[in-house]
Amino acid sequence: MSPVPYDMTPAVAPVERSVTLLGATGSIGSSTVDLIRRARDRYRVEAVTAARNAAALAALARELGARFAAVADPALYEDLKRELSGSGIEAGAGPEALVEAARRPADWVMAAITGAASLKPTLAAADRGAIVALANKECLVCAGTLFMRRAAAAGATVLPVDSEHNAVFQSLASGRRAEVARIIITASGGPFRTWPIERIRQATVEEALKHPNWSMGPKITIDSASMMNKGLEIIEAHHLFAASADEIDVLVHPQSIVHGGIEFVDGSMVAQIGPPDMRVPIAHCLAWPARMAGATRLSFDKLANLTFEAPDEVRFPALRLAKAALTTGQGAPTVLNAANEIAVAAFLDRKIGFPHIAALVEATLDASAARGVLREPADPDEAVAVDHTARSLARDLLPEIAAKAF
Ligand code: NDP
Repeated sequence: MSPVPYDMTPAVAPVERSVTLLGATGSIGSSTVDLIRRARDRYRVEAVTAARNAAALAALARELGARFAAVADPALYEDLKRELSGSGIEAGAGPEALVEAARRPADWVMAAITGAASLKPTLAAADRGAIVALANKECLVCAGTLFMRRAAAAGATVLPVDSEHNAVFQSLASGRRAEVARIIITASGGPFRTWPIERIRQATVEEALKHPNWSMGPKITIDSASMMNKGLEIIEAHHLFAASADEIDVLVHPQSIVHGGIEFVDGSMVAQIGPPDMRVPIAHCLAWPARMAGATRLSFDKLANLTFEAPDEVRFPALRLAKAALTTGQGAPTVLNAANEIAVAAFLDRKIGFPHIAALVEATLDASAARGVLREPADPDEAVAVDHTARSLARDLLPEIAAKAF
């Protein structure tokens, strides 16, 4: 045996695991399915969910041998049932069916539904003490204090899937949380990283959807272009690692190779490096605490150089707004997230321009503060209520903001 104690974590044999995929038909869902296909003998699929994509969901459920499949839209129940007929797979529809999917007895649950709709099902998985692989960041942004408290009370394990947080999580294995001086998450800078502010203000939907490194769903791709994604991730890191806003640094790193890391009090820095492929952090969570064979590898000899720069909060005001919301606390992050969802949808529908996204978020935050509705959500229903109020406020403010010239 080596005298060098290089095995920091005890050897863990891969276990057979039952899994549920919330948001199975999306980008994260598909990457998870790809990994499961590579290790079919180790994963038994309990339940899968989608929003409206009943045909794709039923095909997945059949292929993976799931026991339960649910769509969020209650009107699609008959469609899903028909698609599943003869398979023996139970069908469900509506928000309660998503919660039922999460409650079913799977060891491990992938939380990859987009937006605040993920909150109740993800909480249901945490409440029964499951291992929750958390891709959905809005859940922490909207109700992070509540979510982490409930997960701890139920003995749940929360594994960060988001590549930056997964990188921090992996880096933390080389020391103790109390010895951490700084948490670093990187940002690609998105498609507009080098653009002057005047050009960013004129950006089209097509330009904003062209992410330089990652292939993701449309909402998060727009959030990457505005850097709101990084703002949401600061809030996410705050909850996951019990870190204050000034302990978390963002670095723009256009190559998306160094995903994140930590600086210990002694000046040592530990970072996680990997290809820009979500299957890497998902694989880490899927097999955790063991490791599984991955889908991609990084070739160092192809890396000409790695660069890092400070983010620019003038060209990307969303970052400033998210930090301010975290500092304000209470319901401010919930309002930020809700207003951003409305703004991104309006931008994708070509109802507003790119700079109007941050403007609508700021106006909604200001209006919420003025009305005194920035309360800390005490339970999921209150989080949903704060979210709904903020959404309707954002919708009301939309015409006024849309008329603003930039
Ligand atoms: P997608 O839009 O690709 O997929 C979303 C999934 O959730 C689909 O299965 C969709 O079903 C379902 N869904 C959407 N809306 C609802 C709803 N209201 N109720 C129930 N189900 C719903 O998103 P991504 O996979 O890109 O992202 C998922 C989450 O992971 C997001 O929170 C994102 O921020 C986070 N994330 C994503 C990363 C990525 O690389 N994609 C990286 C890090 C985090 P249907 O197919 O029927 O529409």
